[in-house]
Amino acid sequence: MKFAVALFALCTLVNSTHAADQGSVFSEAMMTVAERSNYERTSTVQEVVDVVEALRRDTTLMHRETLLITDEGREVPLLVLADPPIHSPQQAEASGKPVIYIQGNIHGGEVEGKEASLIAMRDILYGDKLHLLENQILIFVPIYNADGNDDMSANSRPNQELSPVMTGVRTAHGYDLNRDGMVVEARETRALYEQVIRRWDPDLLVDLHTTNGTWHGYSLTYAPSYHTAGDAATSNYTSEVMLPAIQAVVKAKFDLDFGWYGGFDYRDWPPTELRTYHHAPRYITNNLGLRNRMAILSETFSHDRFYKRVHAANVFVEEILEYTNVNGYEIRRINRAADARVSSSMGTRDSNDENGVQFQMIARQEPLDLLSYNYIPFIADDGSTDFVRSAEIVTIEGVQNFNDFAPSLTARVPSAYIFSSAFTGLAAKLLEHGIWVETLEADSSFRGEVFDIQQIDKQNFVQNGHRNSSLRGKFQSVTRTYSRGDYIVSMNHRLANLIFYLLEPQSDDGLVYWNLFDDYLQAELQNNEIAEYPVFKVLR
Ligand SMILES: [Zn+2]
Repeated sequence: MKFAVALFALCTLVNSTHAADQGSVFSEAMMTVAERSNYERTSTVQEVVDVVEALRRDTTLMHRETLLITDEGREVPLLVLADPPIHSPQQAEASGKPVIYIQGNIHGGEVEGKEASLIAMRDILYGDKLHLLENQILIFVPIYNADGNDDMSANSRPNQELSPVMTGVRTAHGYDLNRDGMVVEARETRALYEQVIRRWDPDLLVDLHTTNGTWHGYSLTYAPSYHTAGDAATSNYTSEVMLPAIQAVVKAKFDLDFGWYGGFDYRDWPPTELRTYHHAPRYITNNLGLRNRMAILSETFSHDRFYKRVHAANVFVEEILEYTNVNGYEIRRINRAADARVSSSMGTRDSNDENGVQFQMIARQEPLDLLSYNYIPFIADDGSTDFVRSAEIVTIEGVQNFNDFAPSLTARVPSAYIFSSAFTGLAAKLLEHGIWVETLEADSSFRGEVFDIQQIDKQNFVQNGHRNSSLRGKFQSVTRTYSRGDYIVSMNHRLANLIFYLLEPQSDDGLVYWNLFDDYLQAELQNNEIAEYPVFKVLR
């Protein structure tokens, strides 16, 4: 008995020492609004800034920059965490460490990533996660869509079942920031490209969302940057190596089930297919693949209570960072190898090489065992069979996992694109992506292709103020003379796959699709039966 008491005392002592070692005591000001309000509220921009400033007070390891001032005048903070501390991308580059970028709240009503990011930064600086700065530079933007976040009202996300009571809206002034990756119209997107992607060149981008639909059985679902016209290596590593490893760790450490993003129709119960969203690079995570960088889409489960969603997002962020702390140099090596491969591929390519410009969703080779809330059939009053959802979570084996894409239309990859000096807006748009645009030093002739357009089709719905365009026509082989001062975009560049996706006339998410050529082409078609797409493809 005496022995047992002594042992108990020892255990208590060990536990308390352990807690002190973790430094897990933090000041009240470092608590998120979600934590303080028993998860009834989510933070405003000002409340995020208050927590950030409390975190900054007693450390030198956090550097604050401004990502942007929004249309409504809110300052969006960007935090750089590093040990030893750094204040510039040059210092990050000199450290040789990979840069990991965590972004919350691109959809203003999807608030979990914002709270989870604040908790992750606190765990790193004042908890037991300081080791996460050993091998990496971390950049956090906890509240990307600040104006959307602060446009709060009750029940603006009904599937979140008043949890928290008030949330913001998805868009920024009616504009969906996660459809802006190609046309780059919003102030937020311009800032993201200028202040994060071009300035810090992160090796991995993590974009934190909350789903708005399917009653699957996961605490959180994820997707890689989908491989389309990009180099496959970055997407493959994310989906085949990194995400499965993190999924296994989360299950072992927290008993949380994370799985592939997707939805199904319960009226086809039991589901045979899980289908994901869209491959297009207007989605920021997919855009990164065209830039030879990795990205992860994270979606907490909207029907979970708020505290559970914040926990799942926080676990995901911290376990991603555990993974990158160990494997970040490997991630960086894969990204840089893709850079080298893409920029040098012009030397090895022949003029018949093709790449995808339109894509279709396909099933991954491996089917999955899908977790879902169980649906039970019943006979409705009108005699039809319907299904009612139960609270039981079941496993449905052998579900086809539509989380991959294959080209449905391809086009030849040129060695350069050329267009008239009149298209200054087009040149400026490419520059925003970090693409080099040069001008011809003398009049010159080129062999290659033009695209002859017979018809412009317009999408029958409006997306971010656009009725998107697609072109009908065909390529013609021609020789053309361009003048001194006309623009030339060489594909001898690490962003060649992005250039291709932006400029191909039949691209399903290029600058044609985003109406950049509408006025010009419609005027041409008024006078002629056929209009020529004004971007020439140089072929060898
Ligand atoms: Zn979202």
